[in-house]
Amino acid sequence: MVIKPKIRGFICTNAHPAGCAKSVENQINYVKSQDVKSKSELQGPKKVLVIGSSTGYGLASRITSAFGYGAKTLGICFEKEPSERKTGTAGWYNTAAFHDQAKAAGLYAETINGDAFSDDIKKTTIEKIKQDLGQVDLIIYSLASPRRTDPDTGEVYKSTLKPVGQGYTTKTYDTDKDKVHEITLEPANQDEIDQTVKVMGGEDWERWLVMLNEAGVVAKGAKTTAYTYIGKELTWPIYGQATIGLAKEDLDRAASAIIDRLKSNNVSANVSSLKALVTQASSAIPVMPLYISLIYKVMKEEGTHEGCIEQIAGLYTTCLYAANPAVDNMNRYHMEDNETNDATQAKIKALWDRVTQENFHDLSDYAGYHHEFLNLFGFDIQGVDYEADVDPVVNWS
Ligand code: NAD
Repeated sequence: MVIKPKIRGFICTNAHPAGCAKSVENQINYVKSQDVKSKSELQGPKKVLVIGSSTGYGLASRITSAFGYGAKTLGICFEKEPSERKTGTAGWYNTAAFHDQAKAAGLYAETINGDAFSDDIKKTTIEKIKQDLGQVDLIIYSLASPRRTDPDTGEVYKSTLKPVGQGYTTKTYDTDKDKVHEITLEPANQDEIDQTVKVMGGEDWERWLVMLNEAGVVAKGAKTTAYTYIGKELTWPIYGQATIGLAKEDLDRAASAIIDRLKSNNVSANVSSLKALVTQASSAIPVMPLYISLIYKVMKEEGTHEGCIEQIAGLYTTCLYAANPAVDNMNRYHMEDNETNDATQAKIKALWDRVTQENFHDLSDYAGYHHEFLNLFGFDIQGVDYEADVDPVVNWS
């Protein structure tokens, strides 16, 4: 079939297998060009578990582990398989492409597709590690999900993207209608806050580490990190100090709990704060498309624009595998300074204050945002023939 993007609201409902393969190849080539292994002061990862491995920051972590350090990688994701009539999800095609490239390079790559929040998938993962790897020395936690079924009670929790304390009126850009307009977001109630913490907080990260450790599949001195976005004043009302921010604060609690509960194995756990960029998760958050279109404009002018792969390659060399990495008072790594420093934020704020429906496309880099949005689904990628008839059914082995 000839596959063209089908965009519905903030999501694209199909994906292009050849485009996704090209995007994975581009990220692999970037990592190879960076020679991350020789830039790392410590010995890099050898056997890596990536929870949320198929898109965004998790995929970039998998690619950096494998093609930067030659690590064996086991991925966990939740993706839809293609059929003759319907394409698979981008994460499905990315995973298939990653497997092909890893295997061609002689690197172990296996993926478990299922609900990472469930104990069943945790147990399947443990068995797979026992069988194939023995132990893992790096565990990346990069899930982004709107809901989670509690494995103890079966209760389904849903996350909400709302301010906390008081309502908030701000500008937003509706990608569907090409419209800059004001929105008022009502404050979350306590139940919505609690449910968001249940989904996007640290409970599941901690549960993974405890179960893996009890099964004896975590190597002595292993590292684990979970990703967060902290941001600055412009995004605090809807992110940092909102429901999702409170959930992310719970990652700090979980990091301490993991260090404590796995101390006999000397496991280090750090939250890593990354920059805002276009992923399937961030495009669903109100205000973020407008904010990201503006930061792309400013950061491209400053020459500091980065995508997932650049952020993660930097995280590995300057934090995870550096001898004395800088951490803040919560023991977090930071990779977002090029976005959140005062001078850059002041430029973004000046644009933010001026932006209207009329000048939006001049003041922002929405073209760059939209290009990267399409790239997430394998579209608008250089070197891909989008008129060609392609088979949507691609499997991984
Ligand atoms: P993403 O949507 O690109 O990736 C999410 C991954 O989680 C995918 O691999 C998906 O398959 C997997 N997943 C979701 N639900 C699952 C489930 N139930 N079981 C198994 N796998 C599941 O998201 P992303 O933007 O890369 O976000 C990853 C992490 O990085 C999140 O914690 C996010 O908060 C954080 N982060 C994102 C940004 C940003 O701007 N995008 C910035 C900083 C931090």
